[in-house]
Amino acid sequence: MVRGHRTRPGGAGLRLLAATAAVTDRVDVAVVGGGIAGMAVAYELAADRKVLVLEADSGVGLHATGRSAGTLALGYGPPRIRPATRLGLPLLKEPPFGAPLVTPRPVLWFADRAHAVDAWTRFQEVCASTSDTRIVDRTEVPEIAPLLRAEAVAVAMLDESAMDIDVHGLISGYLKGLRTRGGQVQTGWRLVSAEHHGDWRLAAADGRTVRADVVVNAGGGWAAEIAATLGDGSVPLRIQRRSAFLARSHACPPVPGGAMVASASGAFYVKPEGTGYLCSPIDRTVVPAHDPKPDELAIARAIEDINAATELDLRSVTTAWAGLQCFSPDGLPVVGFSLAVPAMFWLAGLAGFGIQTAPGFGMLAAASIRGETSGGLSPFEPGRFN
Ligand SMILES: Cc1cc2nc3c(=O)[nH]c(=O)nc-3n(C[C@H](O)[C@H](O)[C@H](O)COP(=O)(O)OP(=O)(O)OC[C@H]3O[C@@H](n4cnc5c(N)ncnc54)[C@H](O)[C@@H]3O)c2cc1C
Repeated sequence: MVRGHRTRPGGAGLRLLAATAAVTDRVDVAVVGGGIAGMAVAYELAADRKVLVLEADSGVGLHATGRSAGTLALGYGPPRIRPATRLGLPLLKEPPFGAPLVTPRPVLWFADRAHAVDAWTRFQEVCASTSDTRIVDRTEVPEIAPLLRAEAVAVAMLDESAMDIDVHGLISGYLKGLRTRGGQVQTGWRLVSAEHHGDWRLAAADGRTVRADVVVNAGGGWAAEIAATLGDGSVPLRIQRRSAFLARSHACPPVPGGAMVASASGAFYVKPEGTGYLCSPIDRTVVPAHDPKPDELAIARAIEDINAATELDLRSVTTAWAGLQCFSPDGLPVVGFSLAVPAMFWLAGLAGFGIQTAPGFGMLAAASIRGETSGGLSPFEPGRFN
């Protein structure tokens, strides 16, 4: 039995005071969803637009965003998302709202003999498409990731440029920057109905209303529901639960800056965090949109796999949590104006790479909403599903 939390302890989310303070009821852009995606685009647009973020929960970043592992790795995810990750890097390295938000954290992907053939093919594909990763010889592995058992590694690939993102710092910075630019956030504001007559009239569950020229759907795991409320059922999104947990190791106390290790077969990942290790069973159970609990069985299996492949000897879980990941049918994000309804902009389907790509997609989305050409978004247009 693990001690489970829905929200990650010490996670990125910010509960906000004065949740129901009066705000402007007529804005240029209403952003539905105050996760990293919504906050990124809201911050960017607030430079020259009147922006309001409408968030159902009591604060921003409390769902997938506040529960992530906060890893940025260019070798992770489909190659087409890499330009967005790269575009956001300067903001993460030198944010306009404070201290740097990234620290180096190399990632070593590895596979045992049973999974070596598939992993080798994938590693070669990744290395051919980005210079940030390289295949490493087994003899190098003990130096890079001393916690891995030698017999667990048949092939390995290293991303030395990978980083940890300070997700709390990022979401706080976006919030501060948004407010400085005159943007606002309404919490406890769950979109339940919408009509478009020249502009959008949006209504919350508690009766509050807002009018907006453009609505951004940044609802994460709830993006399909929000789209349906806005009248666009054109993008079939799949929602998956992803669990994570913290555990201590008496056998191998964490080394600051030590590498993250991820099994290429998808059994687990582990990285040092504070006085312990942040781990995930990389579970992918398809679920309806809801606030999920961690999958205890998947966590128990991951602990077995981690103990078989590493010297960590994990015995108990300090705490566990889970969040929703949202996937489009082709696995690429959905970013662009809806073709089904007027003035509705999609910013969803950020899967397992939404933290690392949100700063870049926030910039691209803001440019597109302003009517500037944003060729960087063509692979992500929602119209590809019509
Ligand atoms: C365990 C785990 C580990 C992860 N690790 C990483 C990682 O290492 N690196 C990485 O890049 N990504 C990672 N991810 C993925 C990343 O967390 C997500 O892609 C990202 O947070 C998605 O952000 P979002 O803003 O789209 O969604 P969310 O953060 O879920 O925000 C959506 C918001 O919409 C609000 N909402 C829903 N319905 C309504 C409504 N009707 N009205 C108003 N508001 C509404 C919700 O309350 C929520 O706050 C991880 C995810 C999980 C679960």
